[in-house]
Amino acid sequence: MSDQISPPEPTTDDFLVVDDDRFAPERVCLVTGAASGIGRATALVMADNGLTVVGTDVDEEGLDETAETAAELGVEGSVETVVGDLREDVPDIVEEAAEYGDIAYLANIAGMQHIDSIEDFPMAAYDRMQEVMVRAPVELSKHCLPHMRETGFGCVANMASVHGHYVTSDKVAYNVAKFGLRGLTQSIAAEGEGEVRAFSVSTGYVKTPLVTDQIPDTAEQRGISVREVVEDVMLGQSRTTEMMTPTEVANLFAFGFSKHADHLNGGDLRFDDGMTLTYE
Ligand code: NAD
Repeated sequence: MSDQISPPEPTTDDFLVVDDDRFAPERVCLVTGAASGIGRATALVMADNGLTVVGTDVDEEGLDETAETAAELGVEGSVETVVGDLREDVPDIVEEAAEYGDIAYLANIAGMQHIDSIEDFPMAAYDRMQEVMVRAPVELSKHCLPHMRETGFGCVANMASVHGHYVTSDKVAYNVAKFGLRGLTQSIAAEGEGEVRAFSVSTGYVKTPLVTDQIPDTAEQRGISVREVVEDVMLGQSRTTEMMTPTEVANLFAFGFSKHADHLNGGDLRFDDGMTLTYE
């Protein structure tokens, strides 16, 4: 089971690289949550597409590791880093990102999980999650949109989840946040005036620390074993028994940002192995 929950090392062979003139070093792709998991993978993939990626996160050490990995892999573009807390520093983060070039792409990926029933859910945890996973993406969009309009085009991508389509118990803040992100995506599409697009990405479980860290809590909450959490709770509704890798998710951002997705606006890339559309 351990190989089902440990993320593989990223290699450029697995990266989706799209031939797109807009993926150029003078263009900035701002990626949140870039110190870990899906955010790190997206930073690496978008940099390999030739963009200047500005990765931001509260975790300075993790961000350094992302930049080091980019250098080790020899990606085509570059990964710059800006340390900041999405609950307080959004205007400064965008201002710093704009110093590296024209902001054209924004990937809202940072997130977290808290598991408790509605009755027991600590409101401080609820507020924190809404601030990081909904308010910050709105505020980042607010500050990036003028740059995108100035650049002449732009695209905002929001990391949603199967939990933005259907829900499971004990994750009320997460469920509400992911439904909210889809609302933001459609709002940007409504106001983008053909210059700025938006889309969301919804996946099932991905091999990242966010998932591996919640397995023991879920096991305790449901009174079942760690193995049962992975096989029955996480992959039980899925038509495959393998979780997605962070790179596979990052590749969806590369496609969604590219010219091949020019007609994707307000929509969702739901890659969930059939999880939300089938049952046994
Ligand atoms: P992760 O825990 O590996 O990474 C999340 C990152 O967000 C961390 O680096 C963390 O430091 C950062 N972050 C948290 N609070 C922050 C704050 N206040 N300011 C700045 N950065 C902050 O998680 P992941 O699995 O890569 O998840 C990334 C996103 O993908 C989340 O939005 C998550 O909901 C979503 N998602 C994950 C899965 C999955 O199975 N892993 C599935 C669907 C959706």
